[in-house]
Amino acid sequence: MSALRIAEIFGPTIQGEGAVIGVPTVFVRAGGCDYRCSWCDSLHAVDSAYRHDWSRMTAAAILTRVEELSGGVPLTVSLSGGNPAIQNFAPLISLGKARGYGFAMETQGSVAQDWFSALSMLILSPKPPSSGETVDWARFEDCLARAGQVQTVMKIVVFDDVDYAWARAVARRYPDLPLYLQPGNHTPPPPDADDAEIDLDGIMSRYQWLIDKALGDRWYDPTILPQLHVLVWGNKRGV
Ligand code: SF4
Repeated sequence: MSALRIAEIFGPTIQGEGAVIGVPTVFVRAGGCDYRCSWCDSLHAVDSAYRHDWSRMTAAAILTRVEELSGGVPLTVSLSGGNPAIQNFAPLISLGKARGYGFAMETQGSVAQDWFSALSMLILSPKPPSSGETVDWARFEDCLARAGQVQTVMKIVVFDDVDYAWARAVARRYPDLPLYLQPGNHTPPPPDADDAEIDLDGIMSRYQWLIDKALGDRWYDPTILPQLHVLVWGNKRGV
């Protein structure tokens, strides 16, 4: 069984974002990403300079750790990163499902894998212009196709008016995908800090701005959520 690059495994905690917000979860954070978003809040799992903190783990070893953390009681496992889609999580999903665990995964939609169809939920999070990245929509649609019947939702982080207009255009392009909008954390943690200062007042203002903007436009389709874990724990890592 080949080993996976894992930046951290932690929990149980709650999922802090999107469609499964508040759901008890163990996180498996993959190391490595094909993007370099300007405001990335997980650089410790992206930048190869932090590779020495990552572990090479087999699927069996990851599941053993997940079972230790969850006391052997099945729950939702969130595959995050980095971009988990650049590695092969099929063996972990297969082993975990046999023990009753469900797997949700978030990815930007830049790499499609056949094993997406084994997930419980796929969260596609295309990155808006403020990230400095450009979405390849053909690849994004390949991700959708490979997910097949798996529940798939879209999450877009919004930092400014340009991102907001982009999110509206993307929503028009994929009207059947449930959409979750989220204000960005403009004070993301540096990669070598595990409890960096955060501007919570600024984050709440941005959340109110986003709500006002969508409701003012009578755009009622998206669900507009803050990052719940950020409100509870700030930039603290591993919670
Ligand atoms: S895709 Fe996600 S993990 Fe990768 S650089 Fe962007 S925000 Fe960070």
